[in-house]
Amino acid sequence: MENKFLPFSQPLIEKDEIDEVIDTLKSGWLTMGKKTIEFEKLISEYIGCKYAIVVNSCTAALHLSLLALNIGPGDEVITSPYTFASTGNMIIQTGAKPIFVDIKKDTYNIDPEKIREAITPKTKAIIPMHFAGQACDMKEIQKIAKEYDLHIIEDAAHAIGAEYNNKKIGSESELCCFSFYPIKNITTGEGGAIVTNNDKFVDRLKKLRLHGISKDAWKRYDMGNWYYEIEECGWKYNITDIQSAIGIHQIKKLNNFIRIRNSYAKMYNDAFSDLDVTIPFKKKNVKHAYHLYALLVNNRDKFIEKMKKKNIYCTVNFIPLHLHPLYKKLGYKEGDFPIAEFIYKKEVSLPLYPKMTKDDITRVIQAVREIVNE
Ligand SMILES: *Cc1c(COP(=O)(O)O)cnc(C)c1O
Repeated sequence: MENKFLPFSQPLIEKDEIDEVIDTLKSGWLTMGKKTIEFEKLISEYIGCKYAIVVNSCTAALHLSLLALNIGPGDEVITSPYTFASTGNMIIQTGAKPIFVDIKKDTYNIDPEKIREAITPKTKAIIPMHFAGQACDMKEIQKIAKEYDLHIIEDAAHAIGAEYNNKKIGSESELCCFSFYPIKNITTGEGGAIVTNNDKFVDRLKKLRLHGISKDAWKRYDMGNWYYEIEECGWKYNITDIQSAIGIHQIKKLNNFIRIRNSYAKMYNDAFSDLDVTIPFKKKNVKHAYHLYALLVNNRDKFIEKMKKKNIYCTVNFIPLHLHPLYKKLGYKEGDFPIAEFIYKKEVSLPLYPKMTKDDITRVIQAVREIVNE
């Protein structure tokens, strides 16, 4: 028990997900079809938005959102360097330039004041990323976007189910992207979604998800309707019904998952309050999804090694994008974003997921206390 392998993260998959996948496999329809349509309906109902378009990753969701806004060569998109590859890479993929601005010391989210300073005539959009499942300062960001006529695409890969000022992330968004990767708040194996309230994006996003064809396979084959037209050069970003079968049940459990994540985060916070570490800061006007429990410790690399010796696996979120070779080629360098770099050097993400038991949490707490107090 004491030395059992404790992975950084694992999804909670139960009998209903498994039965639904088997039902899909037996049904004869495996690709995007009626289970995906049902999953999309459940997402939009849960979020309280008009539309959900499900794709095969959050990366694809971000890419299509940028394309739906016609962002491309010559344009600039402002985001934080304290994020995963997808956010910056997809901006580059469209031909636009990612413009990074530093994060706030408390939430590790993008700093609205610094967004203001980075705006140029080429700026087209802002991508706030809700770190760890805590909403960015959306009121300020929306104000800036309005003032300068900019679009907002939210990278909510960590934040499905999170709330800002008592409203779900995505419920009032222009374009907001979720991830269903296995370690995220809910999973479909691989998958993602774009939610929007804007009718004008829906047809375009659906078209771009499937080669630029105006009708998806469900409409093409099931209705015995063979004719289609390729209207533009799109991508192959659709999900399958095998994956949506998992999502249909995961989303029904999301509130409970977030409740468990919050109660485990509180156990961590209470247990670490007397240690020489920095526990996550939570703002008053948010419901935190606690996708990550981001702790700041001294000697972070050694800390992770010592946890590993106790068979507990941690990770780091994130290596700031501007420190990677791809972004150095764009002209970014070490020292450009001091807060992101400072947090990166100390950050460790502890295991925190609904599949963990209270005993697992207690074991992590003991291990952290031992290492920090050494
Ligand atoms: C996980 C993650 C993504 C990408 O999600 P995929 O579904 O794996 O493409 C994007 N942005 C952030 C911040 C993430 O953590």
